[in-house]
Amino acid sequence: MAFEGLSDKLSAAFKRLRSKGRLTESDVKDAMREVRLALLEADVNYKVAKDFVAAVTARAVGSDVLTSLTPAQQVIKIVDEELTSLMGAENSRIQFSSKIPTIIMMCGLQGSGKTTHSAKLARYFKKQGKRPLLVACDVYRPAAIEQLKVVGEKAGAPVFDMGQGDPVKIAKKAISHAKDYGHDIVILDTAGRLHIDEQLMGELKNIKAEVGPHEILLVIDSMTGQDAVNVAKSFDEALGIDGVILTKLDGDTRGGAALSVRAVTGKPIKFVGMGEKLDDLEPFYPDRMASRILG
Ligand code: GDP
Repeated sequence: MAFEGLSDKLSAAFKRLRSKGRLTESDVKDAMREVRLALLEADVNYKVAKDFVAAVTARAVGSDVLTSLTPAQQVIKIVDEELTSLMGAENSRIQFSSKIPTIIMMCGLQGSGKTTHSAKLARYFKKQGKRPLLVACDVYRPAAIEQLKVVGEKAGAPVFDMGQGDPVKIAKKAISHAKDYGHDIVILDTAGRLHIDEQLMGELKNIKAEVGPHEILLVIDSMTGQDAVNVAKSFDEALGIDGVILTKLDGDTRGGAALSVRAVTGKPIKFVGMGEKLDDLEPFYPDRMASRILG
């Protein structure tokens, strides 16, 4: 992750603020104009950037901030807090079912990193002493099933597949297999397509209705910026998601998706993908991300 452009522009704006000593309302407004431009250049959603700046400005000029001994410091602290809350405030965890297995349904467009992240999650849970089962529900491309087997083996997690059958049946069979063999987590790798279409959504809705997953995680590619955010909005409206896995953050130089997706969809980022290796998965902590951005 390297949101350098955003970090550099924010620190330039804050440097100017600090150099002023006492601050007037118009100093704050000038700085916030710079912040807004920096956010837009980072590909943050237009409305998100506007609301963000309005929230910071209201807090900064409407309290004792400007008369405090360190007004610039106070403004920066407000930016830090608002950035954190923009991304969801707290780390959002996976909801485990009280009865095993916990069913996690992975969905996303082709190429987003869905299969890789199914395996990364399996590995993550294995390290916690759990016994995940990966399930090949992406039945349209034989290569997708093969790929899941390859990454599943690397992750040390078994892969349940029935070739190119009906994904709902496969998911159900996999769940009873998991019960029989003591797997406490079932990760369904569902079909991806290049675009959102009714057939894809229909299939995902079917799986959801028949299987009742405890978590529906949408995998989106952070390098696609606002497109990723729009994909998340569409999936959430059509299917209802519980959270997002934001992938390829290691190659994202702007950060717009990371900063906008929560505000646009209301759904938290739960994990971020930081590379192609199976260990490159991190739970998402909004406060740490805000600190990284502010440097
Ligand atoms: P799927 O079509 O959604 O299942 O996507 P894949 O899991 O096949 O991933 C597509 C490509 O993105 C592969 O080449 C992965 O190695 C790569 N990839 C996945 N996640 C990440 C990540 O977090 N960082 C980087 N740099 N590459 C990733």
